[in-house]
Amino acid sequence: MRALDVLILGGTSEALAIARQLAEGPHFHARYSIAGVTRRPVLPPVEVRVGGFGGPEGLARDLRERRTGLLVDATHPFARQMSANAGEAARATGVPLLAVRRPAWEPASGDRWIRVSDMTAAAAALGPDRRRVLLTVGRKDLAPFVGVPHHRYVVRSVDPPPAELLPPDCTCIAARGPFTLEDERVLIRRHGIEIMVTKNSGGRATAAKLVAARERGLPVVMVDRPPLPAEAHVAADAEGALAWIEAHRTALHHGVSAATWRGV
Ligand code: NAP
Repeated sequence: MRALDVLILGGTSEALAIARQLAEGPHFHARYSIAGVTRRPVLPPVEVRVGGFGGPEGLARDLRERRTGLLVDATHPFARQMSANAGEAARATGVPLLAVRRPAWEPASGDRWIRVSDMTAAAAALGPDRRRVLLTVGRKDLAPFVGVPHHRYVVRSVDPPPAELLPPDCTCIAARGPFTLEDERVLIRRHGIEIMVTKNSGGRATAAKLVAARERGLPVVMVDRPPLPAEAHVAADAEGALAWIEAHRTALHHGVSAATWRGV
């Protein structure tokens, strides 16, 4: 029997775990797709493709050409465009779609979160007074902060952002998580951080900064996640995703159509 083609839209630790697990057995042909924006990506031992598909139409074409059975969107919760494209392509092709989304962070007692819906609102939330700001929002989302140049910024990202994307008064730190609580305490102390801005990515690897902020009573501007497409089923982690994938494989093996599964 032909192995089931599973396309994994990657770029997260969950995506890697799923791909590594599918590589172990004979039932799946996993493909792992990354945008190609990170300089030294970690890759799993499966077929890897790098770069965009050319919008939702390109992704739908790929799914048809490769006779893909399942589409797993395990991109970062803030990869808004790719997730929307996955929804459109799933709708167009009838390929079942799973979105893997680790639970969002929730505020704990003592947290001083300012919740906002996007990065423009996050920049506005920093206020009129000059403050020392820690930005951990990724390279792509710095433009709104260039528009509020009276603050002093510390930008931490995996790869250093190009100078033209940065606000004028800015120190860059290139670092890849996970970060310990002590790492975060030192960072805050060393740079005299007064407020931080983060996306609500969820997960443990970068959660220590929230504890460090709580300890010092610092406000955190928390950017909420974009919504998922209606087509997507949701799993909270790699285990949940693998259970969903296996359930679909079994059903397809027993002749239950993909269309039936879309209602699951
Ligand atoms: P995005 O804005 O949602 O996507 C922009 C375009 O990049 C998409 O339209 C698609 O091009 C291409 N693309 C994105 N993810 C892809 C993938 N896994 N495989 C193939 N093409 C992909 O995404 P982004 O925010 O730039 O993130 C890019 C990648 O970095 C994602 O895979 C994500 O998991 C990872 N990442 C993002 C963040 C974040 O905060 N946004 C943080 C950590 C990791 P086409 O339309 O041409 O197909």
